[in-house]
Amino acid sequence: MNSDKLKKNDANCIANTYARFDVCIKQGKGSTCEDYDGKRYIDFSSGIGVNSLGFCDESWSKAVCKQAKKLNHTSNLFYTAPDVKLAKKLCTRTGYDKVFFANSGAEANEGAIKLARKKSFDKYGSNRSTIISLVNSFHGRTVTTLSATGQDVFHNYFYPFTEGFVFAKANDLDDLKQKLDDSVCGILCELIQGEGGVIPLDKEYVQAVAKLCEEHDLTFIVDEVQTGIGRTGTLLCSEQYGVRPNVTTLAKGLGGGLPIGAVLMDEQSSQVLGYGDHATTFGGNPIVCAGANAVLDALTPELLEGVSQRSDYIRRVLESIDEVEAVDGIGLMLGVTLKTKKSVEVLRACAKSGLLVLTAKHKIRLLPPLNISWMELEQGLEILKDVLCSSV
Ligand SMILES: *Cc1c(COP(=O)(O)O)cnc(C)c1O
Repeated sequence: MNSDKLKKNDANCIANTYARFDVCIKQGKGSTCEDYDGKRYIDFSSGIGVNSLGFCDESWSKAVCKQAKKLNHTSNLFYTAPDVKLAKKLCTRTGYDKVFFANSGAEANEGAIKLARKKSFDKYGSNRSTIISLVNSFHGRTVTTLSATGQDVFHNYFYPFTEGFVFAKANDLDDLKQKLDDSVCGILCELIQGEGGVIPLDKEYVQAVAKLCEEHDLTFIVDEVQTGIGRTGTLLCSEQYGVRPNVTTLAKGLGGGLPIGAVLMDEQSSQVLGYGDHATTFGGNPIVCAGANAVLDALTPELLEGVSQRSDYIRRVLESIDEVEAVDGIGLMLGVTLKTKKSVEVLRACAKSGLLVLTAKHKIRLLPPLNISWMELEQGLEILKDVLCSSV
């Protein structure tokens, strides 16, 4: 296979939904991958926050391969061990009571939305089903999670959208209170709006939202699909906000490169969905869960401390560059505002020079693997610095 042939075949038979960048990735190890011409790239994207341990981490690959030879899939009609092991680890480390496994972030959020609505229905009956979500949020691409997403660009073409979502301005408690009427059953938010431009919510605001939820018996759902699993330097980002949402959703970084989603439920929430109320064929797949178990085992206190150290280092380097206006975010989820350059053009120039980065709105977004080596980090930053300092 060569790049030209690959690109041509892709254009011929993959649906037209992705505008890909001009990089054909053949293989990878650690935080470095290479294309079909042997060109190497340092990876500051982790496949959009998915490859927590980089490409084909030794312990992760071993766990996945071992499980692939032992038991691939059974359906949820039967008991298996890897999902139970993973759920137990997640509950022990987060304090949640139970877990529902799904296959993506959107699907995890769908589960959380269903849970919030049924919890309210069981207690208050119908007509209390509205979920308040935030302006500029992102919660997924299914019809319902698009409906929950607070960006108008996503509310086109696919009518009718799911009813029962209203949007409050982030970090504006008065606006939220204004939208809070008797029809509301839950509040859904990210702690750092990722796709929206790496915008962290204020701590005081999030704590006030948690308090409102408690006072009004609303289900507080935090979408940690991007912020969860060590991305911000703690297992869950909510730890740093000092809140314990009723429900937390996870996906991206949990599987270390395999598709998984999870709905973490507190004790009261875990009683809501009963036999037959919710299901998914692939949920808790043994191979996927074996990979996720390897990810969680790797997320030691030392590794998480390393995330914060790497974050501080990246900030220091970037903040010393003239072209950089500001660096936002927490841990290894960072958004870089530029003074004059366009983020997409910087992304393209970086790729040309051997560095993979992301954008989020007008910012450059960095989501490097949590265990990126200091050498790869320095090499990548050197490339980014050169691109940002260049005159074109
Ligand atoms: C990526 C993302 C999703 C959607 O996840 P998919 O796996 O693509 O369905 C939902 N919420 C947030 C915060 C995300 O970053």
